Amino acid sequence: MNRSFYLQLVNPWHPAMEIPDSSQLAAPHPDYPDILMESRAAQALKSLLARLDAFDRIVPVSGFRSHQQQQKIWDDSMKENGYLFTKQYVAIPGCSEHETGLAIDLAANAPDIDFIRPDFPYTGIYGQFRALAPSYGFILRYPAGKESITRISEEPWHFRYVGVPYASIITNRGLVLEEYADSNKRSVS
Ligand SMILES: [Zn+2]
Repeated sequence: MNRSFYLQLVNPWHPAMEIPDSSQLAAPHPDYPDILMESRAAQALKSLLARLDAFDRIVPVSGFRSHQQQQKIWDDSMKENGYLFTKQYVAIPGCSEHETGLAIDLAANAPDIDFIRPDFPYTGIYGQFRALAPSYGFILRYPAGKESITRISEEPWHFRYVGVPYASIITNRGLVLEEYADSNKRSVS
């Protein structure tokens, strides 16, 4: 996979274009073999969790999803939660970062984990994870205060792999991926 794959912008106006095949997927957490990411992203997350010795406290909730799986999550949420909630927290099928294998939803390990809005705190080991994430290639994709740009409500649990050093550049500049993609476009033209 090349650099443009890892930096691809996926949102309602930019569908997921490049989808890894099954040979390019791997499990970032050994206790959750069915939750997969693109293999380089998976390796990066695994290294970060190993560094924090956090495999028992930080668990993956959702990683790679096929288009059909994203469609099912959307349909189920529409039935259960209605349109207003669903469009805030569930990406339109075809336009989810989870379809690229570059996104992961994480939770604090607990008996009842909410699948759509898992609890991933800002303090303790979770805060340490957040502080180290950019140096492992991960950004917090939907931060508070950027909803007018991302059109997704704050999601403290959703991390997106963009690679090193881009995650640090994006995080240090306080940007979301839409803004970073836009600033790159401007500097090229
Ligand atoms: Zn997510």
